[in-house]
Amino acid sequence: MDKLKKLISEASKIYAANFPSNTWFERALFFSWSCSIKDCTFCYMSTQEKRNKGDDDRAVRSKESLYAETIICKNLGWKIGFFSGGINAYHHKDLLEMLKVINEITGEKVWINLGATPKNYLEKYKPYIKGVVGSIETVNERIHKDVCPSKPIGPCVQMFKNSTSLGLKNAMTLILGLGEAEEDFETLKEFIEENKIEKIHMYALNPVKGTVFEKKKSPNKEYHAWYIAKTRIAFPNIDIQMGIWKDKIERISLLLGAGANSISKFPIIRQFGTKSAMGIEAQAKKADREFLGSLTNIPKINWDEEVEKLNLNPEVKEKIKFKLNQYLRNMSS
Ligand code: SF4
Repeated sequence: MDKLKKLISEASKIYAANFPSNTWFERALFFSWSCSIKDCTFCYMSTQEKRNKGDDDRAVRSKESLYAETIICKNLGWKIGFFSGGINAYHHKDLLEMLKVINEITGEKVWINLGATPKNYLEKYKPYIKGVVGSIETVNERIHKDVCPSKPIGPCVQMFKNSTSLGLKNAMTLILGLGEAEEDFETLKEFIEENKIEKIHMYALNPVKGTVFEKKKSPNKEYHAWYIAKTRIAFPNIDIQMGIWKDKIERISLLLGAGANSISKFPIIRQFGTKSAMGIEAQAKKADREFLGSLTNIPKINWDEEVEKLNLNPEVKEKIKFKLNQYLRNMSS
């Protein structure tokens, strides 16, 4: 047995001893397309023109469209990976209002990924959130300085400390392929331990046109699986979410075998019911995992009733219904 197969087999046994044999899709709920930082070198935002200080270039999504999407997530069995958006895109009081409604819809607390959030805000969000997700991206400090020049790790580490002191949980994102190597795993291990990380979102770089990574290759499935397996073995109970773009569906069963819990990133609203969506469900089956929820079938329910249940004013409800029908139409076309 080669080294990777052995590693995956060990990780698979550890997964089986700690989790049920299932998997699911997680949707990141984004409330904006804008960001005040715009210089993480791998991000689409870095290709956008920087405005002058003081200019308001926030491109936010309507609250009603977010609520409509949350209703779809709940009824299709997709979990909310996190609630996120560009830094400073929405004001704190709006975020609080949205968190309350999202909670009301799902009946569950949600993870937030809002940049290095101050403790006084976390205290306000606490009734509605599981914990915070720090967009760490890479734990290699040298690479981090290059790829996230305006998003230092320090404030996130402080947020993790505040979150822990408030009884909240910590999660992080990691992008493989930014220049790190297998040698950086030890630093990752220390980072997870020191910051009490209970969930990790592990993506493989998606080279974005116009960024410095445009001509770089996305890491192969073996490297992606190696990182997941090493993480599973080092942390038997950690929640590992794998980020999967349309071009990486064929690696899902391998990554589940390596000990990942769930799948994210796939553009499900646009891709619902397609060959790719069927491919994800088939990959779960191939890995002997029951797929919870559906990426291919819309349940027959009264969607308007789902909206009527909410404690919102009639005008807002009508706007949610309109968006909901629009999404459902797109998903069934
Ligand atoms: S903070 Fe997030 S959205 Fe803004 S540039 Fe960096 S990765 Fe992109």
